[in-house]
This record gives sequence, C-alpha cells and structure tokens, in this order.
Amino acid sequence: MNIRSLIEDFTNQLSSLVEQDAIDRARAVVESALGGHGRRGTKLLSGARRPKQLCPVPGCKNPAAPVFGMVCAKHKDISKAQIAKYRDARRAKKAKGTTKKRATRTTRAGKAAA
Ligand SMILES: [Zn+2]
Repeated sequence: MNIRSLIEDFTNQLSSLVEQDAIDRARAVVESALGGHGRRGTKLLSGARRPKQLCPVPGCKNPAAPVFGMVCAKHKDISKAQIAKYRDARRAKKAKGTTKKRATRTTRAGKAAA
C-alpha cells in the first residue's frame, strides 16, 4: 500500500462521510416536513372516518366506546333494548326538522290522492 492509495482511501472515506452527513440532514428535513403533514393528515382522516360518538343515555356526556356496545363505561350495564330506545329518541330529536318537511310532503301527496 503506498501513500497515494492511503490518501485516496482517506479522501473517499471523508467524502462519503460528508455525503452521508448531508444526506442524513436532508433526509431529516424531508422527514420532518413529510412527517408533520402525514401526522396531520392521519389525524384529519381518522377524525373524518370516526366521528366521536357520545353515549346515547340522556344527559350523559361521556364518549361511547365500541367495546361497551357504543355506550360509555358508566352505562355499559344498561340493556341493549333500553339503549336502542335512547338512541331512537336521540335520532328523532335530531331529525325533527327533516321529519316535519317529510310529513308536509306526505300530507300534500295524500291530499292529491284524495
Ligand atoms: Zn353514558
């Protein structure tokens, strides 16, 4: 091994080190940029896919959990029939406006038929 090859080796190693460092830094920048967007996007997506559902028991503000059959931990012992009633009541309350419209339309149709 002569000095020239030693120097060449050293230079190669040095340049590869510098390159690696630059690549690492560039990757860190890209990853932090992508990672930030990715995390934000995932949060948005999961939020859109799974809107937080509240426990259907009247007056209960706890979030419902699928493990408890979509009620909160506090009301997980309530019977499914009762929960279904609560859920129907809540749905009816929510759909009041649309139900009114639909009822009007039905009445009109009934008059036309009669
Ligand atoms: Zn509850």
